[in-house]
Order: sequence, then structure tokens, then C-alpha cells
Amino acid sequence: MTDITTQQYVQAGREAMKDDILQSALANVQGRLGPGTQAAYRNLPEGPDLRLKAHEIREKTINNLDIVLETLADTIRKRGGKVFFARTKEEAVAYCLKVAQANKVKQVVKGKSMVTEEIGLNKNLEAAGIQVSETDLGEYIIQLAGEKPSHIIAPAIHKTRQQVGKLFSEKIGTPYTEDPATLTGAARKALREKFLSADMGITGCNLACAETGHISLVSNEGNIRMATTLPKVHVAVMGMERVVPNLEDHEILFRLLSRGAAAQKLGGCVSYIGGPGGPDFPDGPEAFHLVILDNGRSRILADPAFREILCCIRCSACLNACPVYGKISGHAYGATYCGPIGAVLTPLMVGMNRAKDLCLGESLCGACQQACSVNIDLPRMLRELRFRLAEGDPAWGTTPVSRMERLGYQGFAFLAGHPRLYGIALKLGAVAEKLFPKNKDMISRMPGLGAGWTVSRDIRPVSGRPFRERWKSMDRKN
Ligand code: SF4
Repeated sequence: MTDITTQQYVQAGREAMKDDILQSALANVQGRLGPGTQAAYRNLPEGPDLRLKAHEIREKTINNLDIVLETLADTIRKRGGKVFFARTKEEAVAYCLKVAQANKVKQVVKGKSMVTEEIGLNKNLEAAGIQVSETDLGEYIIQLAGEKPSHIIAPAIHKTRQQVGKLFSEKIGTPYTEDPATLTGAARKALREKFLSADMGITGCNLACAETGHISLVSNEGNIRMATTLPKVHVAVMGMERVVPNLEDHEILFRLLSRGAAAQKLGGCVSYIGGPGGPDFPDGPEAFHLVILDNGRSRILADPAFREILCCIRCSACLNACPVYGKISGHAYGATYCGPIGAVLTPLMVGMNRAKDLCLGESLCGACQQACSVNIDLPRMLRELRFRLAEGDPAWGTTPVSRMERLGYQGFAFLAGHPRLYGIALKLGAVAEKLFPKNKDMISRMPGLGAGWTVSRDIRPVSGRPFRERWKSMDRKN
């Protein structure tokens, strides 16, 4: 991942919460897509339990990933495509550059792809003198703005149409307008020229099917069809987990992907791409390359506690349900993947210590799992990350938390196991807390280690009379 700013998570989150335009955009996307997705799951012929079946499919695939990927590579090669397994983002970028240079590529058109964001492909192609044009409307907007996506499937969700109107008038000379249809028409005209002159198309891959050797891609505007068929070379980059063994499994996951992503029965434009064109289907490119990227995924696969995160199909439903994402937006996460999926995946990919705030910031409310199209237990993995950070784990390079904090929790564990002492401690606490500043009978500021608890909220004082005592003296006959 490039340009990681996870250390600024807290500060960036605070700033996002002060941005009224952003808050209204987030409320809009969550208000629309959150409930819509739940209704879409309920309306499935098989009911919402199809998500459990999808989870089984994903788990089985991930547990047999080596075999499924080898099958995929063989099938694609038989269909005339080339397959490259990239261990690192550097290897993936180098391969794309090699293909571009071998084909004397000057211009690239891209379909929306988070995995190419992950490897920082655009800036490397541009550094090699290749012009790169994003063709998904949202990606096109943020490329013009010089920004990063703030949502997995709606990258420009943080921008208003007024901002887009201003941007288009500055960057592509469109007379200022706020009319979405006119703005879309302007982008369409500018992009048509790019499609016609590009030598290479680069896309991600929603899912690849090992049985048939095709990759499938969803787009809202159909731009991916042109990015994959007009240029003479098509390179698709996929995370190594985005594979399914057969078409039957593919169909189930695809139906859930569309529902999770946009509460739709099926994405606007779905493309199935099975390699280069040929005598029977002359519309395809002359060459097709699939880059299968590891970039830390094998390490995740090797840890049974985190392997489940590889079941993710990047539908983004967890973002649309998460109360934290709904307030701080995607940029605050400081990495390619944001929201609950990013809070788990980013620490595993860029380092737990470096990205620790992301998993600490999530609320553990469980909304992400309920929204997830494949029922991934994200809260469990968030807790597991916190555990590894607190206890230290040499395998992930984490060291135990501060001695004082550890002593504090050990003390609490001891008291919790000794009710009489616990009762005495509560009574002492109730006396001591009288010294703390109050706001409407709530403690507004704690000293020392407890200070963090009152940074953004007041807390209820300890009762001088514990529940057990009150319970004993209650008249429970009535
Ligand atoms: S974790 Fe689940 S809800 Fe979130 S992006 Fe992945 S599949 Fe979608």
C-alpha cells in the first residue's frame, strides 16, 4: 500500500467530524444503502441465510487456495491468457511496466480497482512516462482532484455536485454546472477520446472463476467494457483471494456482491472476460494478462485467527453500516481499505503497530457482520487484533502494552475474582471519585490512566451502594 497515513487516524477522524458537507454525504450514503442492503438480503429467494452458504463457499475456497489458484492459472493459460503470480506489490508493478514497455504503451485506461490503489500502480506508470486515465466516473473525479478514494465502491462519495462542477470547469474546461447529467456527459466525452487512443486497459477483478478461466467485473457505467476490449492489451490485477472454484459458487457470490454493494439484484454492467479475443470473438484484446497478487495475504492465510478476512469480496456493505465510518469517512483510515474491512485488513497488511488505531477505533457494535454479504465475523477479528496488541505477538511484531496498563488490568482481574475485595474497592472508588470534576452528576474528567475515558464523554460515577446489596434488600414478592 502506498502513502499510508494510519498514524493520523485520530486527528483525521476529528477533522472529518467537523466537516458538515462530508457528514451530510455520509448520512446520505448510509441512510440509503444500509437499510436497502438488509431489504435486498431479505428479498433473496433463499432468504438472508444465503450469506451463511456464501461464507461456507468462501471458507472452503480459502482453505484450498493453492489448488484453486493453480486451476485458475491453468485454465486461463489454456484460453490464451498469461498469468503472473506477484509476491509483492513491487513485483506486480514491475510486471505491469514490463508488459507496457513490451507493447510500447503510451496511454492506459483503467477500470475501478482497489488492488491497483493498493500497489500504487498509477504513479509508477506515470513515472515511466505513461499517461493513465481512470474511467470509472467516481475514480475519474478523484483523479482530477488529485485525491484518493474514500469508499470502496463509491470513491468520490465525499464530493458534492457543486464541488464536482467546479472541478470540471477548472480541469477540463466544462462551463460551470451542478447538473449531474451534464457533468456525466462532459466526463463521457473526455473519456471517449481516451478509450479510442489507449494502448492498454488495466482493471481489477471482482471474482475469477477457476473452472471457466474467466474474470468478472462490475461497473455502473459500462466503462469497463471499453477499457477491456478497445485497447490491444488488457491487464487485470487481482488479490489472490478473489477466486471461486466454479460457476455455481460464482453465481451465489455475485448475487450477494451486488446486494451488499448497492442493494441491487445485479450490478449495472457485468462483464465476463475469458482471455484475449480470437477468431470466434474478435472484440477482445490481442493479449490478456492476469496478475495474481499476494502482498502479505499468505501471511494472513497462515494465521488461523485472521484467515477469515480473506473471505471478503469487497462489497463494501460493512462501510455502509458502520457508525464509525459513517462519521469519519474513508480518508481518515489512511490506507487503501477503509471502514471495518480496512480496520482489520490494514493492520495485517501494513503492520499492527503502525495501524493499531484503526482496530481500536471501531465500536464492536456488530453492524458490520450483520451487513456483510458473506457474514464475516469482523468484530471477532477486531477483538483479536486488540488482544495481539495488548499481549504482544512476536509473529506480528507487537510488544505488550505499557507495564502500568497491564498492571491495571491484572489488578482488575484479581478484584473481579474476589467479590469481597471488589466490593471494598468499589466503596473506596465511590469516595475517591467525589474529588473528580463533574458535569450534571457525571464525571467529566479522570486523572492519570483513566484520562482517556473522559476525553470525549462523561462517565457515570460508581454507585456507593452496589447492585448486590440493593438486590438483597429489595422486596421481590411484588
Ligand atoms: S467484510 Fe464483508 S461487508 Fe465488508 S467489504 Fe468484505 S465482504 Fe463486504
